[in-house]
Amino acid sequence: STNIIAIVGRPNVGKSTLFNRLVGRRQAIMDNESGVTRDRSYGHGDWTGKYYTVIDTGGYVHGSDDIFEGEINKQVELAIKEADVILFMVDVEAGLTGLDEEFANVLRRSDKPIYVVANKADTNARAHQMGEFYALGLGIDIFPISSQSGSGTGELLDEVVKHF
Ligand code: GDP
Ligand code: MG
Repeated sequence: STNIIAIVGRPNVGKSTLFNRLVGRRQAIMDNESGVTRDRSYGHGDWTGKYYTVIDTGGYVHGSDDIFEGEINKQVELAIKEADVILFMVDVEAGLTGLDEEFANVLRRSDKPIYVVANKADTNARAHQMGEFYALGLGIDIFPISSQSGSGTGELLDEVVKHF
């Protein structure tokens, strides 16, 4: 099987930071720093002997908070179509936003396994704030992670690769 993981979510939640960590290759970092708006980036990685392809679906200029309904639909529909597992990323620092809910509403159309990834859980206090995302009523489970430090990403991958 192809073992495709797609990362979706609104701008600035940390999708590309997680992508780089899951791929762990310099090439991915260079692609993301090029400043070119692109639909998606693909990278390869492995965890406990299982190989996967990860898609960073955020196709807009780095640092921009702007995203339109059409882009949300496009990003999520791409993920639903191509992925075997979807990581829906939210940001515990910012909390639950209207855009997160818009993404969640499109994701509800999917029958693919979804995990809610509560990023920027850099401290235990921050990790506890993930509770508010249960209100989304979406996903198999919520995983608090810090894409920056890598904490929690191992536990997340342990679950994800069970689908492969
Ligand atoms: P994207 O737009 O969803 O791809 O988000 P990026 O990966 O570009 O990250 C957006 C911002 O959040 C950047 O300034 C990152 O350094 C920051 N960021 C990403 N992950 C973390 C994290 O785990 N903790 C904190 N504190 N900041 C993070
Ligand atoms: Mg990005």
